[in-house]
Amino acid sequence: MPKVIAYTYGAAVHCPECAKAALADGALVPAADYHDLPPGADEHDVPYALQDGEGSPIRPIYSTDDTPAEGLRCDTCGAEIAAPDPERAIHEALEEDDPIAAVFQLMKRGVVDERDVGNFIVDSADGTWYHPNDGICEGFAYIDVGGGRAITAAWDNYGFWHVQEMTVEEADAEIAAREAECKEAED
Ligand SMILES: [Zn+2]
Repeated sequence: MPKVIAYTYGAAVHCPECAKAALADGALVPAADYHDLPPGADEHDVPYALQDGEGSPIRPIYSTDDTPAEGLRCDTCGAEIAAPDPERAIHEALEEDDPIAAVFQLMKRGVVDERDVGNFIVDSADGTWYHPNDGICEGFAYIDVGGGRAITAAWDNYGFWHVQEMTVEEADAEIAAREAECKEAED
């Protein structure tokens, strides 16, 4: 039996607790017209036939419905409604025009972390990344995401970018080491 995990109204998603509060406050009211909704109340004691102040029906979201790979949170209180699916989120990000930037955004928002990304390799990068070196020494880039953390992309000999998270100090040390190596190769 699918569970009701949230409700959609006011162009936003709300958890059962916030929907119950809205019902108690009179912001949501039992619907006079059932539309296509069944009679009775769901497991949260929220009537199936419910409407907002403008008479628009409130739609429940069920546990069996598709939810975004990035997860779903209540727009009122921030409670988690559906957990993120890191693997699906990464696969979707890799299909974008700029996969590294997309993966970076997921890391920045905490949808995925280094452990999730470690198994994936992305095959392009664009100029939004900080490339500390030019010419033969390029191949390592990072974005400072604050709090001393950096999302890094390292280019391997096969032309693939490996994305991971490390501290800014570690990223700077990596750059220094690569620069020293390149200088040695030039000399
Ligand atoms: Zn809520």
